[in-house]
This record gives sequence, structure tokens and C-alpha cells, in this order.
Amino acid sequence: MEESQFQNLSLRIKHTPASLTRRYVLALSLIALLTVVGQILMQYSFSTQDLDSNTINLAGRQRMLCTAISKDALAVLAAPDPSIRRQALTKLRDHLGVWVRTHEGLLKGDRELRLSGRNSPEIMRLFDRLESSRSEVVAQAEALLASADRDPSDHATPRRVMRLLRVSDEAISWIDRIVGRYALEARQRLNRAKTISVILAATILLVLCLEVLVIFRPAVGTLSRYISELAASTEQMHELSIRDGLTGLYNRRYFDQLLAAEWQRAVREKQPLSLIMFDVDYFKLFNDTYGHQAGDEVLARIAGTARDTLRRPADVVARYGGEEFIALLPGTDLGGAAFLAEKVRAEVETLAIEHPSSRAAPMVTVSLGVAAIRPTPEDRSSQLLRQVDEAMYEAKRRGRNRVDTAPSS
Ligand code: GH3
Ligand code: MG
Ligand code: MG
Repeated sequence: MEESQFQNLSLRIKHTPASLTRRYVLALSLIALLTVVGQILMQYSFSTQDLDSNTINLAGRQRMLCTAISKDALAVLAAPDPSIRRQALTKLRDHLGVWVRTHEGLLKGDRELRLSGRNSPEIMRLFDRLESSRSEVVAQAEALLASADRDPSDHATPRRVMRLLRVSDEAISWIDRIVGRYALEARQRLNRAKTISVILAATILLVLCLEVLVIFRPAVGTLSRYISELAASTEQMHELSIRDGLTGLYNRRYFDQLLAAEWQRAVREKQPLSLIMFDVDYFKLFNDTYGHQAGDEVLARIAGTARDTLRRPADVVARYGGEEFIALLPGTDLGGAAFLAEKVRAEVETLAIEHPSSRAAPMVTVSLGVAAIRPTPEDRSSQLLRQVDEAMYEAKRRGRNRVDTAPSS
């Protein structure tokens, strides 16, 4: 076979794991990349939501502060005694300070208050609209505080308080609109983030499905094909390594292994074991007459005949040398083996392959030796091999085309 077939296979197998690995790494990297992008977007969205809710909260507090400033101003006006009036003024100062700071923070940003100062044009427009009433409230409140410090019973106080109350309503209505707008924009951002995360999850799922269909499934198919090809080629290689190329029989090396194994078994099971060794008669002359190629064909036909004759599953026929064969017959005694050897001899003769230069017969014949043993742990297989060899040479010596048995041991 088929050497080229092996080369092809090994080339394919050699290149496949690398390309498969490349594909897997690429496929998994894509999924990893998409997942990381998703994570980054989620983190960004969480922090944006956090900032948004802080901004809405502080913008909402402006309404409360504006209302508180109005109440403080009224309390300053209506306070029955100076100590209550002082308390009201202190609260007014505090509330005013906080309002001014958060307002500045909302417009320009304030790290401590966690305000980014980034506002949409619509919000900036609303802040512009708020500005006149807000600055009026601030101006009146500051004037109230200044005059209270200078002259506690300033007659302008009621006028200032009334003016402050009037504009604070207007300021509150603009603050409400600003808060509403902040909330609306935050909701829009949240919805956008939700949509993006749904799209991203769907994309990851889609990519995964495509990868399963396009990369993983075919790869698994290819891999299992390679594995079975590999198993088959390993099996073929094993067969090649134990068989003789010309006759298809087992080779001598494998025969020796089988003999060792069967010998052990025969010792264990106390069973007989026989060997038949045979050699083609005057084969050199056959080659000289018909050529080496014709000689090869004869060897193959004799091998086939022997295999067909010794066909029990446990029987083993091997090519032992050039034109020399050997058969191992487990569980067969000398009588049985001699009978089979005779059968092989007769079958080879029946092939009727002309061999005019043979001095044994006008056709191709074989000489066979038979030896048998019921081995004990003390016996060695080499003894039996020597006996069967001697028996075969006895057959040669006695005229060839015959079976000779070694004296049973
Ligand atoms: P004998 O009857 O004593 O066995 O005589 P022989 O001529 O068969 O024995 P010998 O040992 O003198 O010659 C064996 C011949 O077998 C010589 C060799 O060319 C031939 N031979 C061995 N292996 C092969 C083979 O694979 N193919 C062919 N065509 N001939 C082979
Ligand atoms: Mg010979
Ligand atoms: Mg020989």
C-alpha cells in the first residue's frame, strides 16, 4: 500500500491541530472581545445612572431650599422677639449658601457634590429662564441679611420679603421644569443603555450560534474523522508490520511473538502444541527455469493453499524464510498435525504447477516436517523449532514431497 496514502494522511493530520487551534482561538477571542465591550458599557451605564440620580436629587433640593428661604424671610418679618428673628436669619443665611453652591455646581460642576456640570442645551435654556427670578430671590435675601446686620428694624424689610415671596414662586416653577428635564434625560439614557445591552447580548448569542455552526460543529466532525482515520491507519500500519508483503502471511518476527504467547498458554492449560515447517523443493531450479517473478507467484499460491488448509481460528501460518513456511497449531497433537501436513502437501501437489527440473515430481512440491509437544514450564520453544527443522530436513533427505514427523517428546 499505499505509502503515499500514509504520507497524505500524516500530512493532513500534522497540519490540522494547528489550524483548528487557530480557529478556536479566533472564535473564542471574538466572544471574549464582545463580552468585555459589554462589561465596559454596563459599568459606564451604572456610573452614569449613579451620577444622574445624584444630579436629580440635588436639583430637586433647590426647590426645597427656595421654599425654605421664603419661609425664613417670612419668619424674619413676623418674628415676635429678636432671638427668634436671629434664628430665622441664621437659617436664611445657611439655606441661601447651600442653594448658591448647588446652583453653581449644577452649572459648572462640583467634584465634592459629584456634579459633572455637563448639561444639555435644553437644560441650559431652562437655567437661563430661571436666572432672573433666582437672582432676584438671592438679591433680596442677601439685602435682608445685610440690613438685618446693620439695622434690625429696617422699614424696607416688608417690601423685600414680599418681593422675595413673589419671585420665589416663579423660581420654583422653573426649578420644577429643570428637575423634570433632568429626570427625562436620565430615563432616555437608561433606555439607550438597555437597548444597547440587549443588542449586544443578541449579537453575542448570534456570533456564538454562527461559530457553533461554522467552526465548532465542522471542527468536531473533522476531528472525529481524523481520529477514525488515524485509528484505521494505525491498524493498517500494525497489519503491515506483522505481515509479509509477498504472501500476506504473518512474518517471522510476529510468528515468534505468537509462538511465545501460545507456548505460555499451552503450559498453563496443559494443551498440546504442534509446528509444521515446510520448504519448496528444488525451488532454485524453478527460479532458474521460469524466473524470479514466476517463483514469487508460486510462493504466494503455496501460502494461500496452506492458509486455506490450516483454517482453524487459532492456527497461524507464517513465512519463515525465503521459500520456507511454518505453521503453529495450538491444541493439536502430533497425529493431527501430521494429518494436516499431509493435506498441505497433497493440496500443493494438486496445484499442479509445472516444475520439469524438479527431481521429486514433475510439479512444484513441498517437503514438510512436523513436531509436537505438551509443554511443561521446563521446556523451551527453541527445542520444538529445532525438532521441526530436523524433521523437515529428514523429509528432504528422504526424497522430498513428503511429511516426516519428529519423534514425540
Ligand atoms: P531444496 O529442495 O533443497 O530446498 O532446494 P532449493 O533449491 O529449494 O533450496 P535452496 O536453498 O538451494 O534454494 C532456495 C531458493 O529459493 C533460492 C532462492 O533464490 C529462492 N528464493 C528464496 N526466496 C525467494 C523469493 O522470495 N522469491 C523467489 N522467487 N525465490 C526465492
Ligand atoms: Mg527449497
Ligand atoms: Mg530453503
